[in-house]
Amino acid sequence: MPTLKVIPVQAFNDNYIWTLVKDGNAAVVDPGDAAPVLDYLHNHQLTLTAILNTHHHADHVGGNSGLLEHFKVPVYGPHEERIPTVSRQLCEGEKFVIDGIGVEMAVTEVPAHTRSHIAFYGADMLFCGDTLFAGGCGRIFEGTPAQMHSALGKLMALPDHTRVYCGHEYTLANLRFARAAEPGNPLVSAWEEQAAAQRARNEVTLPSTIGREKGANPFVRCDQPGVVATASQHAGRTLTEGLEVLAEIRLWKNNF
Ligand code: ZN
Ligand code: FE
Repeated sequence: MPTLKVIPVQAFNDNYIWTLVKDGNAAVVDPGDAAPVLDYLHNHQLTLTAILNTHHHADHVGGNSGLLEHFKVPVYGPHEERIPTVSRQLCEGEKFVIDGIGVEMAVTEVPAHTRSHIAFYGADMLFCGDTLFAGGCGRIFEGTPAQMHSALGKLMALPDHTRVYCGHEYTLANLRFARAAEPGNPLVSAWEEQAAAQRARNEVTLPSTIGREKGANPFVRCDQPGVVATASQHAGRTLTEGLEVLAEIRLWKNNF
């Protein structure tokens, strides 16, 4: 059996185009730019077999057309008119097998960053775009804190060993905020130290895991006393609900 590899092809400043490679075939998640993908495919003599999109932002779909000019492949994505190149629109719970790769993915709707954002889960891997980041979460552009709260809750229900492939290298900035949001969490400081060393060597800090997020990501720890306390302090009033804690720390992080 040829083994599956998951390669971070870098784009722009800090985007990762996750590329699943198996048996001479490649499938890409969120190709914001076609050029680095075409280079990677060429250098490794790979044939593109599928494109997956989590949401409509240009840094995640901008390369679709350029790739389709070279490869006639299906494009899996959300029901979203702002991604006209999607050929297979998917809903909550739908499953499909990635062409040429043979891995089955299940679709989860996670609206909040954008209203039609989806995530892909299969083979112990989660591709979550800009919803969940290592140590943080995406900005809430088209949804509500309640939607982000429930989206993150759905993702946290996945097994702890699930590998989390998110769309950007934001780990260090997120952990610096996590340290402010939950001072004294030893899992945050240990991870921050490790991520700083990785970045100093120009290494990728991803994938994370669901278990790691549960231990260190303040946005999924909104019920933890340490996070509730700092969020309340920042808000200048006593917060009790996890949801209002999330809303407060998301605003706090926007200007951190
Ligand atoms: Zn985005
Ligand atoms: Fe993005």
